[in-house]
Amino acid sequence: MKIIHSPQILQQELKAQHKTGAIIGFVPTMGALHEGHLSLIRRARRDCSLVVVSIFVNPTQFGPNEDYNAYPRTLEKDSLSSQQAGADIIFAPASAAMYPEGYQTYIEIRELTKGLCGATRPGHFTGVATVVCKLFNIVCPDFAYFGQKDYQQCQVIKRMAADLNFDLQIIVMPTVREADGLAMSSRNAYLSPEERKAATILYCALQKGQKMIQDGVQETALIRETLQNFTQLEKLAQIDYLEILHTETLAPISRIQLGHTLIVLAVKIGRTRLIDNCVV
Ligand code: AMP
Repeated sequence: MKIIHSPQILQQELKAQHKTGAIIGFVPTMGALHEGHLSLIRRARRDCSLVVVSIFVNPTQFGPNEDYNAYPRTLEKDSLSSQQAGADIIFAPASAAMYPEGYQTYIEIRELTKGLCGATRPGHFTGVATVVCKLFNIVCPDFAYFGQKDYQQCQVIKRMAADLNFDLQIIVMPTVREADGLAMSSRNAYLSPEERKAATILYCALQKGQKMIQDGVQETALIRETLQNFTQLEKLAQIDYLEILHTETLAPISRIQLGHTLIVLAVKIGRTRLIDNCVV
């Protein structure tokens, strides 16, 4: 496995690989890899002849008061686990290589980013879309892999790829969870033992919502209110949003549409903001 830091060198290398008929799979990450990330790499390994994993804590997707500086950076450990999961190339650029002096081009996705994390984290999805667009141009993958845990991000990337005519297929993989249901996240490392216990509230709320729907409840307002009250029973939890939306448009729905209903939430546990979702 190779570790490449320069966008230009990676681009040259992958152009040459493409000419030989390689099928390139790409997994963009911010590192601090866990089983969720590794599931994407393993799937890419199965689908593709060449697997590229990027590890880049992207400054443009963090707000001024967010955790850019504190975000865990564990390149050595990540390289080893990526290799074991089947990566051929790690792309780990410096920030200055991705955003050199004079940089001024950004990608804006309008409607899909108005609500949810887009509302709470202004500019976040512009940063995400911009870096993913740059990475797609550098890697030119045939397949790119993302996790359903970041549901809105998946919709944003799919929209961008379609709108900007990227010739690639986006594969969304299921959320990998801890034994007690907590969605794996690099940010779980911030939780104290007490907060870690409290963090299961997100998954419990999703399960409760699914159960209500299975039991025949159709009114999303009733489900939403029940789940909000339930989540607030956890003293360490502070709800950022808890919504029931259409899976494609991310617009609110008043009644359950089976197969097209998304329950999605962001909750602060202490100072750590966690997200999760499920499709019913
Ligand atoms: P990140 O490093 O947080 O930017 O995540 C990189 C990719 O891994 C994104 O496509 C995430 O959606 C995906 N991912 C993060 N956590 C999980 C998880 N628990 N299960 C599956 N995919 C995940």
